[in-house]
Amino acid sequence: MRLVLVPTPIGNLEDITLRALRVLREADVVACEDTRRTGILLKHFGIAKPTIRLDQHTMGQAKRLLERYGQVAYTTDAGTPGISDPGAELVSLALREGWEVEVLPGPTAFVPALVASGLPTARFTFEGFLPQRRSEQRERLSRLAPDHTLVLYEAPHRLRSTLQALAEFYGPEHPIAVARELSKKHEELWRGTLQAALERFREPRGEFVLVVGPKGSKPTPEQPEATELAAQLRAQGLKGRALVKALVEAGVPRNQAYALAHLT
Ligand code: SAM
Repeated sequence: MRLVLVPTPIGNLEDITLRALRVLREADVVACEDTRRTGILLKHFGIAKPTIRLDQHTMGQAKRLLERYGQVAYTTDAGTPGISDPGAELVSLALREGWEVEVLPGPTAFVPALVASGLPTARFTFEGFLPQRRSEQRERLSRLAPDHTLVLYEAPHRLRSTLQALAEFYGPEHPIAVARELSKKHEELWRGTLQAALERFREPRGEFVLVVGPKGSKPTPEQPEATELAAQLRAQGLKGRALVKALVEAGVPRNQAYALAHLT
């Protein structure tokens, strides 16, 4: 049997790849974490295909459910199967059974959040969802590499408690970027300190990726401040490389300064 993991958009349906659509069309069946959600996607792209539910509760029956098919495509709720969802368990089962496994490149939430954060990307630790118990959170955080940027997924109802745990661990003035509703209508990329994030996200709604700077890093200016500063400097006649230089001197990360000066 051949199992192909198919990444699906995390918001904007235009992010599906041509290859993902072909694989979905060619599969004998689409196994999905959520048949309703994948059903909407298939319908949108005019793909008529049988679907089978395969989520964390039914994963134990994966072998029995899939044995009768030659080519199976697997999708999770959104993004790349295997990243903080049941996809990893399916891959491990498939490899144990000697099935052929292929994974398509495609959308995932943490990569755009990390890159847009303005925080160092050379070394980062992806932790997915932190444990819910405060003692386990502390234990997990204490094992992090201090010079790595930390990337977390979080649900809206736990966002504030996680921000509080991070503020206790790193200190309230530590830098964080909060990516909300990526690629959706209300996408937001907020940058500031942990304390300011707690003030900003009082009633969190939507899906979140948190990107926390390495220990010892300085807060990234919030986007509106940097944008405002760029506008002020432009009004003073600065442009091009001179504008980038002034922004960097004011503490704006170089990649953000280039973007604001339209040099990227
Ligand atoms: N497999 C997915 C991936 O490749 O990113 C992640 C699945 S995990 C169950 C779901 C979490 O991903 C959400 O709780 C949220 O933290 C993050 N996420 C998914 N879509 C997002 C979006 N559009 N904006 C921000 N975060 C998102």
